[in-house]
Amino acid sequence: MFFASDNGAPVPPAVMAALARANEGPAMGYGNDALSLAVAARIAALFEAPDAAVFLVATGTAANALALACLAPPWGAVFCHAGAHAMHDECGAPEFFTGGAKLIPVPGDHGRMTPTAFEDAASRLWTGVVHGVQPAALTVTNVTEAGTVYTPDQIAALAAAAKARGMGVHLDGARLANALVATGATPAEMTWKAGVDAVSFGGTKDGLMGVEAVVLFDPGKAWEFALRRKRAGHLFSKHRFLAAQVAGWLDGGLWLDLARHANAMAARLAAGFASVPGGRLRHPVEANILFADFPAAAHAAAQAAGAAYYPWSDGPGDAGTGARLVTSWATTAAEVDAFLAVLRGAAGGIAAG
Ligand SMILES: *Cc1c(COP(=O)(O)O)cnc(C)c1O
Repeated sequence: MFFASDNGAPVPPAVMAALARANEGPAMGYGNDALSLAVAARIAALFEAPDAAVFLVATGTAANALALACLAPPWGAVFCHAGAHAMHDECGAPEFFTGGAKLIPVPGDHGRMTPTAFEDAASRLWTGVVHGVQPAALTVTNVTEAGTVYTPDQIAALAAAAKARGMGVHLDGARLANALVATGATPAEMTWKAGVDAVSFGGTKDGLMGVEAVVLFDPGKAWEFALRRKRAGHLFSKHRFLAAQVAGWLDGGLWLDLARHANAMAARLAAGFASVPGGRLRHPVEANILFADFPAAAHAAAQAAGAAYYPWSDGPGDAGTGARLVTSWATTAAEVDAFLAVLRGAAGGIAAG
């Protein structure tokens, strides 16, 4: 019963097989091998953007921070949702790699910003005044940190508001595959067709051993990104092994099948919560992350049964009964059902006692 994170899942056998196939003979380093070049072209084609610049890195933090560095100068303002990974979970990497740009949180229910809330925050900047940071970028996360999903239209509305103020738009797609299967949108519809300039296209949360692709739709940014990636220590010399993972993951649409399964397991978990006494969901479940409350006795029973998940608090005033539950490509229906049975059993015990 493993719901701690989707990065806890193993690597799919097809990806391991692709790695094994790449483990043959010599290959040029630093991305100059045939497989790395082919994978970059394949990702560009997937986004229907043959001119896009594509770079592989090993972590989402590097993808986000280096992509944002290409959009924001040191004196720039980067707007993000108040709960964004870039804001809370990257140890200041976006600030560090931009050379000091200021992250400005935008509030919003269920992990989503509205254009109005973004406008409100952006209009407070002292634009054109030397004393204030200057508008630079908006970063949007899809799947959001609350487990909800933006539609391409919602992304487009935010991007239009950012563009109107001369800002670049970045998409943190650590779980882009989950967002795509949830909405039925194509990678192009969810990104450049909606006004996104740069994407962190996540692989790790969807089964890879550790690869994220940065996609820059303005090829004029390619050289800058290449230098930034090297300087950050993210230009892998044995690059073919990053590329091989991506190749095995894209083959036959595996990446979408894995995400579809993760989302289906979350939907099963969400549906089951309806029959957990005292169970409640904090946000709509639209992809593969759930935030749920259940009684303390059910937490104790779940922990005693060996279930892995993070307790969750939304801050002061929180009831203290929250949990974050994440499903992955490897989550089984049996795991979900066993977990729900433990919760129901504990809650039944309360009712009886
Ligand atoms: C996991 C995650 C990342 C990347 O995290 P790393 O641990 O640096 O790979 C980025 N954004 C979001 C929303 C995430 O959930």
